[in-house]
Amino acid sequence: MKKAAVLIVKDLSKSFGSHEVLKKIDLDVAPGEVICVLGSSGSGKSTLLRCINHLETPTSGEIRFHGNPVQKHARALSDYRSQVGMVFQSFNLFNNMTVLDNCMSGTRNVLNLSKEEAKKRAIEQLKAVGMAPYIHAKPAQLSGGQKQRVAIARGLCMEPEILLFDEPTSALDPEMVQGVLTVMKDLAKSGLTMIIVTHEMAFARDVASRIIFMDQGYVAEDTDPESFFTAPATERAREFLSRYR
Ligand code: ADP
Ligand code: MG
Repeated sequence: MKKAAVLIVKDLSKSFGSHEVLKKIDLDVAPGEVICVLGSSGSGKSTLLRCINHLETPTSGEIRFHGNPVQKHARALSDYRSQVGMVFQSFNLFNNMTVLDNCMSGTRNVLNLSKEEAKKRAIEQLKAVGMAPYIHAKPAQLSGGQKQRVAIARGLCMEPEILLFDEPTSALDPEMVQGVLTVMKDLAKSGLTMIIVTHEMAFARDVASRIIFMDQGYVAEDTDPESFFTAPATERAREFLSRYR
């Protein structure tokens, strides 16, 4: 039996001006699910993640975390974002801070951990992504792949229940992609709940427990990877997949 949903997206719509970018999205996320969100550029994938993380305010519909709607005041939002974290295509590290300080800022400022505790957690997570030797480096001294692994470690330091990824490897040189995907695969194995927007089809097929295929603001398919990749139900998905063969 499927576990109770930790996150529920219900009837979510989002418009920018007259442009309806998300159209009545329904999505229940159970603990431990690894959902890969696929779809063409402009189909609404980033907007969906940004609404889930409350970086965008839905035009209508709701998002519930453990059954509760997310409150809009700053304190509640930063608390929510510590539990539903996000990793961005462009890393979003603080460039003036060291790797270690980047990984301590959230746990210090939002979770109010002691300096010792925050540092211990940061080093642990940086070790897990292979970035422990770089704790005193600044982001500018790192490759894109290294920056992204630091960004993932920073997210993990918050011990989130869900981690959202928006094309985490799209800004990377090809030789950096695999290292980041390996880290994410290990996270998936560890049981972390993840929603991953990606164009890495082999990764999605291998790691996802569920595929969401978006088309023009709709969830066009919501299925298991085997079905999606071997027998997609919609013409749009067939056409989309043919571009990756
Ligand atoms: P994807 O991530 O699938 O490429 P996005 O969610 O980024 O798609 O964008 C979906 C559509 O919404 C696009 O047409 C994009 O131009 C539009 N859009 C996204 N963000 C904004 C915004 N802040 N203002 C206006 N239009 C936006
Ligand atoms: Mg996007």
